[in-house]
Amino acid sequence: HAKAAGRNRYAIFGSHMDELVRARRQMEQDLRIALEGHQISVHYQPVYSAKDQVLKGVEALVRWRHPQKGAIPPDVFIPVAEETRLIEPLGELVLREACFAAVHWPDLTVAVNVSAIELRNETYAMRVLSTLNAAGLNPTRLEIEITESALGDNSGHCERNIAALRALGIRFALDDFGTGFSSFGRLQSLDVDRIKIDKCFVDGFGKPGGNEEIVRAMIKLAQAKGLRTTAEGIETPEQNAVLQRLGCDDVQGYLLSRPVPAAAIDAMLASDAGIGRAL
Ligand code: C2E
Ligand code: MG
Ligand code: MG
Ligand code: MG
Repeated sequence: HAKAAGRNRYAIFGSHMDELVRARRQMEQDLRIALEGHQISVHYQPVYSAKDQVLKGVEALVRWRHPQKGAIPPDVFIPVAEETRLIEPLGELVLREACFAAVHWPDLTVAVNVSAIELRNETYAMRVLSTLNAAGLNPTRLEIEITESALGDNSGHCERNIAALRALGIRFALDDFGTGFSSFGRLQSLDVDRIKIDKCFVDGFGKPGGNEEIVRAMIKLAQAKGLRTTAEGIETPEQNAVLQRLGCDDVQGYLLSRPVPAAAIDAMLASDAGIGRAL
């Protein structure tokens, strides 16, 4: 009996795995088609200075509208894109769109998320440079967001790409700061210009056992190292006020603006609505 049950469990487990593999393969195929067609777009989430709530920049965030399944979140398809190397054409598409869009927003910084897989490619820095050139965008207007996963790379390619791009005036930010295994340790060796404090810390503000002291320490550490700070995921005026008080440089979140299409950024700039919006 035990044996039969064991086999049975295995069979259930096995079919579940098959289903997962099939779903991934389907998503890979769909993503390939999406990249050739017009299903992929880029939205931009405004970033404001914490102190005076002035619009300073935008973060480019990829969007996929599947013809049958509707919007698929990046947290779902980015991992599949990374496993299949489709992240490279996808990343190029986002970078290109973002650079060409940013040319119309002369006073804003544009931040683009990059996967560790892309950074490990020796040719990455060169391709970023040629995209900037094609768009006519000054490298100082571009910020590249990396995560800790970009850093455990033995080949040295990530570090070399980062060094080459920083030498051109492109800035780097360490995204989702505080969620990794060794965030503080990484800062020791890492060449970045900014840390982005993860939403999970901001969420705790004002609640018992909230993370205010941790965030205060993060900001102090960043300041001591000459790094800028952005807090992600601000959803309430209270969170906004706490970050302002703690001396965080920049804030980003649904309270201030959701990610929006490029045309909405054009409209914000035209109407000056981007300025002082949250005050
Ligand atoms: P991220 O880079 O940390 O981006 C922040 C995410 O938080 C975005 O989700 C944004 O829409 C969301 N967000 C911003 N403010 C708030 C808020 O106040 N409340 C809540 N609940 N969420 C907020 P999104 O667009 O779904 O992207 C998720 C992640 O997918 C990104 O996290 C990033 O890691 C990845 N991603 C997005 N676009 C790209 C891309 O073009 N390339 C790569 N490699 N990764 C990307
Ligand atoms: Mg990001
Ligand atoms: Mg983040
Ligand atoms: Mg994230």
